[in-house]
This record gives sequence, C-alpha cells and structure tokens, in this order.
Amino acid sequence: MPEGYRLQGPGLNMTGELSGYDAVAEARSVRHVLDIHWSRICSRLQTEVGEVEYRTWLKQISIGPVDGDEITLNLPTRFLRDWVRTQYGDRLSALWNAELPAIRRVELQVGRPDPVAEPAGDEAGAAEAAPAAAPVEERVAEARGELSRHDMAAPLDPRFTFDTFVVGKPNEFAYACARRVAERPSSPGFNPLFLYGGVGLGKTHLMHAIGSELTRGGQVSVAYMSAEKFMYRFIAAIRSQSTMEFKEQLRSVDVLMIDDLQFLIGKDNTQEEFFHTFNALVDAGRQIVVSADKSPSDLSGLEDRLRTRLGCGMVADIHATTFELRISILESKAAASGVAVPAKVLEFLAHKITSNVRELEGALNRLIAHANLFGRPVTLEATQDVLHDILKAHDRRVTIEEIQRKVAEHWNIRLTDMSSARRARAVARPRQVAMYLAKQLTSRSLPEIGRKFGNRDHTTVMHAVARVTELMERDSAFAEDVELLRRMLES
Ligand code: ADP
Ligand code: MG
Repeated sequence: MPEGYRLQGPGLNMTGELSGYDAVAEARSVRHVLDIHWSRICSRLQTEVGEVEYRTWLKQISIGPVDGDEITLNLPTRFLRDWVRTQYGDRLSALWNAELPAIRRVELQVGRPDPVAEPAGDEAGAAEAAPAAAPVEERVAEARGELSRHDMAAPLDPRFTFDTFVVGKPNEFAYACARRVAERPSSPGFNPLFLYGGVGLGKTHLMHAIGSELTRGGQVSVAYMSAEKFMYRFIAAIRSQSTMEFKEQLRSVDVLMIDDLQFLIGKDNTQEEFFHTFNALVDAGRQIVVSADKSPSDLSGLEDRLRTRLGCGMVADIHATTFELRISILESKAAASGVAVPAKVLEFLAHKITSNVRELEGALNRLIAHANLFGRPVTLEATQDVLHDILKAHDRRVTIEEIQRKVAEHWNIRLTDMSSARRARAVARPRQVAMYLAKQLTSRSLPEIGRKFGNRDHTTVMHAVARVTELMERDSAFAEDVELLRRMLES
C-alpha cells in the first residue's frame, strides 16, 4: 500500500510527534471515521423512518467536510435538499450530535460528495462501499411498495469478513461452522446452518463473511436479507401481484441467508412462505444459513415443522464475550484504525463494556473519531470524558465484594485471600489496595470495611489506606494500576 495511504494522522501518536504526516492520509482517516458514524446514523434512521422513506429520501445523502462544529451533508438536487431539511433536519443534527458531541450543526446543501470520499482502493470505508443510489424510476417503484429487481437481497457489508472476525472461546465453534459452509456449501450435516446468540455477538458478521467468501469467485449467487426484509418483500410482492416473481427469484439462488429469524414469530403467512422456500432450496441442494437470538427449540411461536427443519443441519451458538475476547477484538479494531490506543484504555473498555461487541466497538469508534477529528492523543482521562454517557449507562453502585473480586483478578490471587490471614506481600498488598478502594468508592465506615476483610480491625484499614496513598506517591506504575482499578469500579 502506498505510504501516503496509511490510516494514520497527526496527533495520534502518543508522544505527540507529527510522524509521517500526510494531509491526504489524514483527510482519509477522518473521513473513514465519519463514515463509520454515518453508517450507524443511517441504520438508526432506517429503523426510525422505515425502509421506503429511507431509501427514497435519506439514502441519497452523502457526507461532506466538517468545519468547526458543523458537518455538511450533500444532496443531489435542491428539491431533495429542501425536503430532507424540513422533514429530517433536526433529527439529523440530533443524531450527529449523539454520535459526536463536538458536532452541533448540520448544514444541508446541494452538491456532490466530497472528493476525499472517492474510494481508496481496498480501503474504501463503509459508506464509500455502499452501492450507488438506485435510478429514479426504481425509487419511485419502491416507494409504491413494488419489488425492485436489484433489491431482492441486501448488499454484503465488505467490513464483515472472516479476516476481521476475532475468534475466541465463545465464538470458535460458530466461526468454524461458518468457515466450513463457506468452503463447502450444502454439505450434509451443515445445511441449514443455524447460528444463534445474543445481540451484537457477531451473527450478522459471520453471515456476511460467508456471503463474501462465496461470492468472491463470481460463480455462486448469494441472497442475504433480514427476516424483516423477507417479510417486507413478500408483502410487497403480494400487493403488487408478483408473488411468482418473488418465489422464482428466491429459488434461483445458491445460498439463502436469513438474519434474525425471530422476527417471523407470529407472522404466520410469512413463516409459511419461508418454509416453502426453505424446502425448495434444500431439496435442490442449495445452502441455507439462518440466524436467530435463540436456538430452534427455544424459538417458541415458530411453526413446529419449520423448527424441526431448522434444527436438522448444524446448530451453533455464540456465547457472551469473555474479557480476553473483548481485549482481542479491541486490539484488532484499534490496530485497523491506525490510531494508537494505550493498552490501559483497552483494558478499561473491556472491563466496563461487557454487554456486547457492538457497544464495545461503538465506544472505541467514538474514541478514534475524537482522536482523528481533534488531533488529541487517546488517554484514560480523555476516554472517560468522551464516553461519559456510555460509561454512565454501564455504571452501577460498586460493592466491597466487587472491589475484592476485581482486585483479586487484577493481581491474580484467590478471592478468599481478601479475608484470609495470610501476610505474604503478594496477597497483603492487593488486600490493602482493595481496602483503600473500598474506602474511596463506598460509603462504608472503617469498621464495616474491616469486617468484610476477614474481621480485621478498623486500624488495619486505616493503615492500609495510608500505606497505599504513600506507595502511590512513590511508585508511578503502582499508582497507575490502582488508578485503573478505581476507574473500572467507579460509579
Ligand atoms: P449480531 O448480528 O449478533 O447482533 P453483529 O454481527 O452485527 O451482531 O456484530 C455487531 C458488531 O460487532 C459488528 O460491527 C461486528 O463486526 C462486531 N463483532 C462482533 N463479533 C466480533 C468478533 N468476534 N470480531 C470482530 N468483530 C466482531
Ligand atoms: Mg445481526
């Protein structure tokens, strides 16, 4: 890759040196970050206003430059610009501001996309890689609910590949199954492939990865769509009396992937249609991949015969992430962004945001965007600042038990040693830190804290607090450790 195209900008390296500064690379880098935010705003808008509205009006927006606290959004015609401004202007400002608090205003103008947005070969960002807006007649047809030829399936997101999927204990089985299907689709035992797990754990990512892998050679046709879209298309086909076409189109693909199948619960007609499509495809030796939030047997409300068929191939679950996996994912995403994010910050995020990968990624993306937009290095302080709203949502009241657990984990000692009589430095020091943090972070009195640490006297707690304070002044590495723990626990 040419030197100038590294996704690296000034102010991003931790020493603050302007190493390898290149204005084009910097512009692209900021661009890439804005694109990430924009694609998130777009998916929000899509759910808020519905597919038809979105595609008719909003999809034509391209993002322009940021100037101070204002971002420019371009629309191809004055009519569209005025319409979007009156109908969605405020909402767009609010969404941008929620993504990037530094952006306070949205300027809508008639114009072409920013020249920097031109795809940069392999590094095309999310929005850059999006397909061009459909021709006008097609948009009109769609707005009327008619079936569009090109819109049978959703495009595959080029970011969701096997290469960018980080494998760990919780997802290794699902990953292996997905790889296997991508290598040899329609093998017995792997058809259908049913992936399930909680929100934001990588189901969609794996499905897109299978799709991208299979379509690479250009021989295999893949249709990927959400169950919701399947239903929407089906209903539109009924309305426009083109169900035959709909069926034929679906049955002509080599691989059909339906995401978030739980959406079909209670939608009996659509389920029925899906069941027939499913059977026709499997009978013809085509591959089906389905995802859902639960296993087939737990998806109550699904027709029994469909449930049975879904469970016939390979069922693979994705478990909740572990701390190790979260760290690996953050490391990989930080490295791909080209922004230097200190290990302490990654650890902090992995401890704080445990719900799902999407949120974790969102938090990291926001940090990276800030680093890029404002040229500030990423530090623990900056992280708390930039992410205060996300972190607040994850905060709970901290308990002494939690403090003991986190401290024990951090220094790799047994939890029982928090209250044991052992006095070896390796356990006594962490215990003192836990007492110190209990004093700092909870409203418990010294005797109460002492009781929780194996019935120790309040003077022992006092001594611990004094000792840790003193050590923190003398030893900056130790101080940083304690500080990190405090931030992790803080509410
Ligand atoms: P789901 O469909 O299960 O709700 P997604 O596949 O949409 O979740 O994942 C949410 C986000 O997290 C996506 O941006 C995806 O790329 C990312 N993600 C999830 N798991 C991983 C992983 N193991 N490695 C890298 N990125 C991941
Ligand atoms: Mg999904």
